[in-house]
Amino acid sequence: MEHLQEFASPNMGKNAREHESTAQVANILRTASNSGSAAPLAAQAAQWMNTLAHEALSPQTDAATLIEALGQLEQLKSAASACQARLAVVFDANQRRAQSAAGTASAEIGLGIGAQIALARKESPHRGNRLLGLAKALLGEMPHTFAALATGGINEWRATLMVKETACLSIEDRQRADEELAADTGGLDGLGDRKLVGKLRAISYRLDPQSVVNRATKAANNRFVSIRPAPDTMVYLTALLPVAVGVSAFASLSKMADAATAAGDERGRGQLMADELVTRVTGTPRGYSSIEVQLIMTDRTLLAGNSEAAVLPGYGVIPGATARQLLDSTQDASHEEPEVRAWIRKLYTAPGASQLIGMESNARIFPPAMRRFIQTRDQSCRRPYCDAPIRHRDHITSWADGGPTTADNGAGLCEACNHTKEAPGWSSKPRPGPRHTFEIITPTGHVYESMAPPLPGD
Ligand SMILES: [Zn+2]
Repeated sequence: MEHLQEFASPNMGKNAREHESTAQVANILRTASNSGSAAPLAAQAAQWMNTLAHEALSPQTDAATLIEALGQLEQLKSAASACQARLAVVFDANQRRAQSAAGTASAEIGLGIGAQIALARKESPHRGNRLLGLAKALLGEMPHTFAALATGGINEWRATLMVKETACLSIEDRQRADEELAADTGGLDGLGDRKLVGKLRAISYRLDPQSVVNRATKAANNRFVSIRPAPDTMVYLTALLPVAVGVSAFASLSKMADAATAAGDERGRGQLMADELVTRVTGTPRGYSSIEVQLIMTDRTLLAGNSEAAVLPGYGVIPGATARQLLDSTQDASHEEPEVRAWIRKLYTAPGASQLIGMESNARIFPPAMRRFIQTRDQSCRRPYCDAPIRHRDHITSWADGGPTTADNGAGLCEACNHTKEAPGWSSKPRPGPRHTFEIITPTGHVYESMAPPLPGD
């Protein structure tokens, strides 16, 4: 639930939040009473989309008319975002009421609401929670910023920045900042992201200097390391660090590179620093230690130099040739340096078969081989739009409902999605598909499909 708090003012206790949220909803319902329920809105939106898709444009259309329409549509997107924010806040209140009526423990109230918004908006669950937090902050604490979004003065991203940059303030100071920005007529026009953030920080600092200092201390708690794929079988290994630590780590690598160059090493500066980073982190010169690398490939790829791709879980698809190189180089490394315990687990896809071979167990807990199998088949969390790493193997049809412990009835889920699934009203069931497929049913009865990613050779 911490994501929901991300945009909330620090002094807003749970009770204050609840109270505020009720007041917000009453307000929104008042504004919405003219337009009725959300159902005609959905139908209207579908009509607008149809109009937009069939808008006749000819090469003769006047250039000024084109620019005019581009600008208007941009404002329409902002207005749609503002309407989504109102819908999200009403939906949140609706779900909390339903959860409370169903006897949900108070600590669990609110669970799965951001996840439902995420599925509807085709976003990750993490982003769904952020969007809900944004909506609540805009409607509850920053009415002028909300009005600017609703009238197309700013877009959703700018509104996000405005909420984020004032999150360190008390509610009163935040409302003051919101008013101050609104009073500055045209003050937001022509400001780029960076200038907007600069302006917000200046206002925040003037209103409450201590909050900005506290915020810097809090930011250091958010340090992390992440990995994401880059083109050409490369990855970005990124660390977010407090400035002093980051600068000192970089200086240390830089100093080492200078020394190596002075000693006649012919590698480039970037190469030297990257190699040194890997050596220091893994403790081995080649970077392969006792880390398990799994490759899924067909036997054609492995043996016959076939041009099919292989999959490196945690990265994605890599060319078959790269997979073979990786095998060769780790075998060399093991030979030259026996202390390097680099190894590669190979999982073969059966030629012509589109699924890895299934397995079965009589226990409730997925045994290690099946866990590895599910991990390899699913690659990352199976909740649509969620790219988070797998932390749990979950029964699709639950064990309590007689669902067996089989690879077919198992799915890999991340920490957050595994927790959401426990909220009342969520269920899942297998569905036939070209690859391993199941459907997720949310408390509103909306159904979303989850299909395993394709394997090489499919
Ligand atoms: Zn997930």
